[in-house]
Amino acid sequence: MNTQPHLDGYLPAEHPLSPRGLFADLPAAIRPIVTPKLATIWEQDTATLPRPLAEARRCYRSFAEGELGHRANDVDLAPHPTPGEVLPSLADLLKTAGRQGMLTDLLPRPFGSASLGSYRYPLVWAQALRTEEMSRVCAGQMLFLSAHSLGVLPIVFAGDLSAIRRFVLPAYRQTIAGDPHMFAYAITEPSAGSDAEEGHGASVSRPGAVARRVNGGWSLTGRKNFISGGDIAKSITVFAALEDEGIESWTCFLVTNDMPGFEVVRNELKMGMRASAAAELAFHDVFVPDDHVIGKPRQGWAINRATLNASRYAVAGMAVGLAQAATEAAIDFACTTGLAGKPLMDFQEVQLQIADMMTETTAIRGMVWQAARKADVARQDRSSMCKFHCTDQGVRVVEMALELMGNHGTLHNSGVEKIYRDARLTQIFEGTNQINRLAVIEDQQEQFLARIERN
Ligand SMILES: Cc1cc2nc3c(=O)[nH]c(=O)nc-3n(C[C@H](O)[C@H](O)[C@H](O)COP(=O)(O)OP(=O)(O)OC[C@H]3O[C@@H](n4cnc5c(N)ncnc54)[C@H](O)[C@@H]3O)c2cc1C
Repeated sequence: MNTQPHLDGYLPAEHPLSPRGLFADLPAAIRPIVTPKLATIWEQDTATLPRPLAEARRCYRSFAEGELGHRANDVDLAPHPTPGEVLPSLADLLKTAGRQGMLTDLLPRPFGSASLGSYRYPLVWAQALRTEEMSRVCAGQMLFLSAHSLGVLPIVFAGDLSAIRRFVLPAYRQTIAGDPHMFAYAITEPSAGSDAEEGHGASVSRPGAVARRVNGGWSLTGRKNFISGGDIAKSITVFAALEDEGIESWTCFLVTNDMPGFEVVRNELKMGMRASAAAELAFHDVFVPDDHVIGKPRQGWAINRATLNASRYAVAGMAVGLAQAATEAAIDFACTTGLAGKPLMDFQEVQLQIADMMTETTAIRGMVWQAARKADVARQDRSSMCKFHCTDQGVRVVEMALELMGNHGTLHNSGVEKIYRDARLTQIFEGTNQINRLAVIEDQQEQFLARIERN
C-alpha cells in the first residue's frame, strides 16, 4: 500500500505512474521541457504576461495582500460614513496607496506611477490586472481606490492636454506626496441609469443635470446618484446637457468640491463593496468656469462612451478576482473540513466542483486578457462581452463556492458571503449586463443590416 500523501482516488506525486515521476526518468536532454517550472496557476498565468505587466501584477498582488487584507472585514461591517466622514483606517489606506503609486497609475512616470514599459500595452490591460488582484482581497477597497481612476479617464480620453496639465498632474503630485486628491465620475442621474450608458435610451431621455450659459462659464443644476467615491472626491468629472438640449449636447465639466452650490447629499446603504460609498451629489447653480470644460462643449457623450468602453475591462477584471477569491475560499474549506471521517476534498463530487470553479475562473481571466491585449476604446463589442460574460460567470463561480460551503458560506467570516455581495454589483454597474449585451449588438449593427434583406 502506498503511504505517501495523496487524495483518495489519485496516485501520489512520486508514484511510478504519476506524470511527475515518469518525466523525472526521461533523458536529461528532454527533462527541461517536461519539468514543471511554476507551481501555481497564478505564477503560470503571470509568466504569460509581457514583463512590465507581469511586474505590475506582482506589485498589485503584494499591495492588495499587504494593505487591503487586514482591513477587509472591518470596513465591510463598519456603518456607512456620513458625507464628509472617512473611516480612519480608510484614510490611512488612501495615504499609503497614494505614496505607493496606486492612485496615479493611469499615467506613466514621471507624470504618474505606471512604468513606461507597461505603456507599450493598452492601458486597460494593466487596469484589469489591478482590479483583479485588489478584488481578490477586498472588492470594496478596490472600488474605493479605483473609482478615482474612472474619474480621471474622461480627462485622458478628451485628449485635453491642457486639462491633464492643469488638473491631473497637480493632483497626482499631491497624491504621491501623501495628500490624496481623489476624482470621481458622475454620469448616473435619478432618472437616467442605463440612459447614460446606451445610445437609444439616451436619445429619448430628458437630462436632469443641466448647464446654463452664464458670463465666463456655466451654471450647473441637477443631481447625480450612485457616484462611487463622490463623497471623498475633490474633483468630479460631471456630465450635463446644455440648457434645452438633449444628451447629444452632453458636456464634461470638472467640478471641484469647494465650488459654491456643490453638495454631497448622502451615501447609499448598499449590499456590497461597502468600503466605497455610492454618493448622491446635488448641484445648486454651481458656477463652472469655461476652463473647467473637459474637451469641448457637446463632446461629453463621445468622452463618456470611450470611458465606458475602457472601464468595462476593469469591471471584468473585478469578476475574475472575485471568482478567484471564492475558488480559493472553497478549496481552503474543502481541505480543512471533515465529513464522514475524511476531508471534504477527498470526495469526488467536491473535486469536480472545484475543478469547474478553477477552470471557469481561468477561462474568464483568459477572455479579459485576450481582449485587453488589443483593446480598442473606439469599439464597445469586446469590452461589453468581457463585462457581461465575466461578471455573470464570476457570480456563478461564487455561487458554486457558496453551495459547496453550505451553512458556513453564509457566515460573514467565511469570506464568501462578502464576495457574493460584492460580485453581484459587478453585474449592475458600468451598464447592467442587459445593456452590455445590447451594446454588442449595437456595435455590430451594420454587419447585421448588411445581411438583412429589406424590400
Ligand atoms: C455600487 C455602484 C457603483 C456605481 N458607481 C457609479 C459611478 O461611479 N458613477 C456613475 O455615474 N454611476 C455609478 N453607478 C450607477 C450604475 O452605473 C447604474 O446603476 C447602472 O447603469 C444601472 O442603472 P439603473 O439602476 O438606473 O438602471 P435602469 O436604467 O433603471 O434599468 C432598470 C432595469 O431595466 C433594464 N433596462 C434598461 N434599459 C433597457 C433596455 N433598453 N433593454 C433591456 N433592458 C433594459 C436594466 O438592465 C435594468 O435591469 C453605480 C452603481 C452601483 C450599484
